[in-house]
Amino acid sequence: MTHLDPRSMIAMAGFMSAIMAVVLLFMRRYYPPSIRGVGAWAVAPLLWLASTVLFSARHFIPEWLSLVLANQLLMLGTVTYYMGTRSFLGQPPAWRLWNWVMAGTALMVITFTYWMPDYTLRVGCFSVVMGVLYAAQLRFMLRHGGRNFPVRLVEVVLALHMVVLATRVVSILTGQAGADLMEPSLFQTLYIGAYALTVLMLSIGAVLLATDRLRTELEHLATHDSLTQTLNRRALLQRCEEELERAQRYGNGPAIMMLDLDNFKAVNDTRGHQHGDAVLVYFADRVRQVLRRADRLGRYGGEEFMVLLPGADGAAARSVAQRIHDALATGHPLDCRVSIGVTTWQGPGETLDAMLSRADAAMYRAKELGRNQTVEA
Ligand code: GH3
Ligand code: MG
Ligand code: MG
Repeated sequence: MTHLDPRSMIAMAGFMSAIMAVVLLFMRRYYPPSIRGVGAWAVAPLLWLASTVLFSARHFIPEWLSLVLANQLLMLGTVTYYMGTRSFLGQPPAWRLWNWVMAGTALMVITFTYWMPDYTLRVGCFSVVMGVLYAAQLRFMLRHGGRNFPVRLVEVVLALHMVVLATRVVSILTGQAGADLMEPSLFQTLYIGAYALTVLMLSIGAVLLATDRLRTELEHLATHDSLTQTLNRRALLQRCEEELERAQRYGNGPAIMMLDLDNFKAVNDTRGHQHGDAVLVYFADRVRQVLRRADRLGRYGGEEFMVLLPGADGAAARSVAQRIHDALATGHPLDCRVSIGVTTWQGPGETLDAMLSRADAAMYRAKELGRNQTVEA
């Protein structure tokens, strides 16, 4: 282990950064722009790459390049990665604060390189600042990241790297890290190896985060109506089937509600198609507000909607229907009227087709009775 050559290991870290930068640049090009932060995540490994090139040329190029600039690029890459994470999670970037931190760190590195040359202080202070940067990222992710696998992975990598940095500070203070980055001591080798792994894992984490977001977005597109953001017909019928299967096992089934806006053609004809669209969006929002947590609203087609009410009996369904009528009678300019057909689960022999046609027939009966009312079948 101690015989691993630091220079080769640093070159290896650079190589990994280069590959990950290519992957992330590719993703930035082809992933939808709604997935933010990928650009910064792609730039970060490029900066790490530049920094590793400078680090590995230590003793061959001047110290202001191999030391001052290399450290700055390493830090800038990590700050850039953090800013990518912030925009990915919909938070404003925080460059201002970190620009100051980076400027202060540059001054510190310059001081301990030229003015008061001190390897221990320089590396110790730099490691502490990097540790704070990692801690800030970790805190941010714990607060805003949610709890899916890629988020957890990045959090673990950040936490582990903080442990590595802490170990490094201790090894430096106790004089076990040698007097130069290129000295192949055990702690130095461990640190560089851990650094290479962190750089790789952070980029992989970014790829996984973006891919997971893409999957969520595609899933949403495939299951939701683009105008009203309610479930589309296919997704809603799928939920209904699942609910009926569940009912077979547990013996309490759902109610189903068919809703058709009243005289909607007239709304379109007199106020225009765009106004009609606005009414549909408003209608869906109002209905969503009065539904219970488990209820699902979907657009069945045109100005027809459907609600799945798991576990609701006739009385519960009628009360939801009444809440919908009330929510649409507020005097708002987009208010509309709706006819509702309701039906409940009739026992283990029940099928979705039968429920749908009963709800449909009840809805038409509501139209015949003068609209703006609910009929139960
Ligand atoms: P009824 O009370 O009997 O239901 O009368 P209606 O006018 O609501 O029924 P009809 O089926 O005759 O008309 C439905 C209208 O809904 C016709 C169609 O142009 C309109 N429509 C369907 N989808 C959309 C949409 O996405 N946007 C808009 N603006 N209108 C739509
Ligand atoms: Mg209709
Ligand atoms: Mg209608």
